[in-house]
Amino acid sequence: MIKAEKMLRQSGKRVTRQRVLILDIINQTKGHIAAEEIYRLAKQKSPRMSLSTVYRALQVLKKEGLVEGIDLGNDRYHYEIKRQDHHHMVCRGCGKVIEFQCPFGKELMSRLAEENDFEITGVSLTLSGYCPECRRKKAGNSN
Ligand SMILES: [Zn+2]
Ligand SMILES: [Zn+2]
Repeated sequence: MIKAEKMLRQSGKRVTRQRVLILDIINQTKGHIAAEEIYRLAKQKSPRMSLSTVYRALQVLKKEGLVEGIDLGNDRYHYEIKRQDHHHMVCRGCGKVIEFQCPFGKELMSRLAEENDFEITGVSLTLSGYCPECRRKKAGNSN
Protein backbone atom coordinates (compact mmCIF):
# COMPACT_ATOMS: atom_id res chain seq x y z
CA MET A 1 0.00 0.00 0.00
CA ILE A 2 1.47 3.37 -0.89
CA LYS A 3 1.84 5.97 1.81
CA ALA A 4 -0.91 8.23 0.51
CA GLU A 5 -3.42 5.42 0.63
CA LYS A 6 -2.38 4.60 4.18
CA MET A 7 -2.85 8.25 5.17
CA LEU A 8 -6.38 8.24 3.81
CA ARG A 9 -7.27 4.94 5.44
CA GLN A 10 -5.80 5.91 8.79
CA SER A 11 -7.80 9.11 8.87
CA GLY A 12 -10.91 7.10 8.08
CA LYS A 13 -11.52 8.99 4.84
CA ARG A 14 -12.90 7.78 1.59
CA VAL A 15 -10.20 6.21 -0.53
CA THR A 16 -10.52 6.73 -4.24
CA ARG A 17 -7.91 6.26 -6.93
CA GLN A 18 -7.95 9.98 -7.73
CA ARG A 19 -7.53 11.02 -4.13
CA VAL A 20 -4.68 8.57 -3.59
CA LEU A 21 -3.00 9.84 -6.75
CA ILE A 22 -3.30 13.51 -5.80
CA LEU A 23 -2.21 12.95 -2.22
CA ASP A 24 0.69 10.85 -3.45
CA ILE A 25 1.87 13.62 -5.78
CA ILE A 26 1.77 16.20 -2.97
CA ASN A 27 3.53 13.73 -0.71
CA GLN A 28 6.35 13.21 -3.18
CA THR A 29 7.17 16.89 -3.51
CA LYS A 30 9.26 17.78 -0.53
CA GLY A 31 8.03 21.32 -0.48
CA HIS A 32 4.95 22.99 -1.89
CA ILE A 33 3.19 22.42 -5.16
CA ALA A 34 0.66 24.37 -7.22
CA ALA A 35 -2.65 22.83 -8.30
CA GLU A 36 -1.67 23.17 -11.98
CA GLU A 37 1.51 21.21 -11.33
CA ILE A 38 -0.43 18.51 -9.48
CA TYR A 39 -2.74 18.37 -12.48
CA ARG A 40 0.17 18.07 -14.91
CA LEU A 41 1.68 15.16 -12.96
CA ALA A 42 -1.67 13.48 -12.29
CA LYS A 43 -2.52 13.54 -15.98
CA GLN A 44 0.58 11.49 -16.77
CA LYS A 45 -0.77 8.64 -14.67
CA SER A 46 -4.45 9.20 -15.16
CA PRO A 47 -5.02 10.84 -18.57
CA ARG A 48 -8.70 11.50 -17.91
CA MET A 49 -8.05 13.58 -14.84
CA SER A 50 -9.33 17.15 -15.20
CA LEU A 51 -8.12 20.31 -13.53
CA SER A 52 -11.48 20.79 -11.84
CA THR A 53 -11.24 17.27 -10.38
CA VAL A 54 -7.86 18.22 -8.92
CA TYR A 55 -9.29 21.43 -7.44
CA ARG A 56 -12.27 19.61 -5.99
CA ALA A 57 -10.11 16.89 -4.44
CA LEU A 58 -7.81 19.54 -2.97
CA GLN A 59 -10.74 21.34 -1.36
CA VAL A 60 -11.91 18.11 0.26
CA LEU A 61 -8.42 17.08 1.39
CA LYS A 62 -8.00 20.54 2.89
CA LYS A 63 -11.28 20.31 4.74
CA GLU A 64 -10.32 16.92 6.08
CA GLY A 65 -7.08 18.35 7.42
CA LEU A 66 -4.76 16.19 5.33
CA VAL A 67 -3.53 18.94 3.06
CA GLU A 68 -2.79 22.59 3.69
CA GLY A 69 -3.12 25.40 1.17
CA ILE A 70 -0.66 28.27 1.39
CA ASP A 71 -1.92 31.58 0.09
CA LEU A 72 0.68 33.04 -2.25
CA GLY A 73 -1.41 36.13 -2.94
CA ASN A 74 -3.21 37.01 -6.19
CA ASP A 75 -5.45 33.94 -5.80
CA ARG A 76 -2.50 31.59 -6.13
CA TYR A 77 -2.08 28.68 -3.75
CA HIS A 78 0.52 26.08 -3.01
CA TYR A 79 -0.37 22.79 -1.39
CA GLU A 80 1.49 20.61 1.04
CA ILE A 81 0.85 17.69 3.39
CA LYS A 82 -0.31 19.14 6.66
CA ARG A 83 2.44 18.86 9.25
CA GLN A 84 3.01 20.19 12.73
CA ASP A 85 3.13 23.94 13.22
CA HIS A 86 5.33 25.66 10.75
CA HIS A 87 4.84 28.85 8.84
CA HIS A 88 5.70 30.39 5.52
CA MET A 89 7.43 33.34 3.97
CA VAL A 90 6.20 33.90 0.44
CA CYS A 91 8.20 35.84 -2.14
CA ARG A 92 5.92 38.25 -3.95
CA GLY A 93 8.25 38.28 -6.93
CA CYS A 94 8.71 34.61 -7.80
CA GLY A 95 6.37 32.81 -5.39
CA LYS A 96 9.18 30.98 -3.62
CA VAL A 97 8.10 29.63 -0.22
CA ILE A 98 10.41 29.50 2.79
CA GLU A 99 9.36 27.61 5.91
CA PHE A 100 10.11 28.62 9.46
CA GLN A 101 9.16 27.44 12.90
CA CYS A 102 6.60 29.28 14.99
CA PRO A 103 8.45 32.19 16.62
CA PHE A 104 5.93 32.55 19.44
CA GLY A 105 6.83 30.94 22.72
CA LYS A 106 4.24 29.40 25.01
CA GLU A 107 4.51 32.44 27.27
CA LEU A 108 3.51 34.91 24.58
CA MET A 109 0.69 32.66 23.42
CA SER A 110 -0.83 32.28 26.85
CA ARG A 111 -0.47 36.01 27.46
CA LEU A 112 -2.26 36.79 24.19
CA ALA A 113 -4.95 34.27 25.01
CA GLU A 114 -5.46 35.83 28.41
CA GLU A 115 -5.38 39.43 27.24
CA ASN A 116 -8.01 38.76 24.61
CA ASP A 117 -9.96 36.13 26.50
CA PHE A 118 -9.43 33.86 23.53
CA GLU A 119 -8.78 30.15 23.39
CA ILE A 120 -6.07 29.74 20.77
CA THR A 121 -6.23 26.44 18.90
CA GLY A 122 -3.85 27.13 16.05
CA VAL A 123 -1.50 29.64 14.48
CA SER A 124 -1.30 30.41 10.81
CA LEU A 125 1.31 32.87 9.74
CA THR A 126 2.33 33.94 6.25
CA LEU A 127 4.92 36.63 5.77
CA SER A 128 5.21 38.20 2.35
CA GLY A 129 8.22 39.95 0.91
CA TYR A 130 11.07 39.42 -1.53
CA CYS A 131 13.73 36.71 -1.74
CA PRO A 132 17.41 37.64 -2.39
CA GLU A 133 17.16 36.98 -6.14
CA CYS A 134 14.10 39.15 -6.54
CA ARG A 135 15.62 41.91 -4.45
CA ARG A 136 18.68 41.82 -6.64
CA LYS A 137 16.51 41.98 -9.75
CA LYS A 138 14.55 44.91 -8.33
CA ALA A 139 17.77 46.76 -7.49
CA GLY A 140 19.05 46.10 -11.02
CA ASN A 141 15.89 47.48 -12.58
CA SER A 142 15.94 50.72 -10.66
CA ASN A 143 19.51 51.52 -11.66
ZN1 LIG B 1 11.63 35.78 -5.32
ZN1 LIG C 1 5.07 24.38 4.50
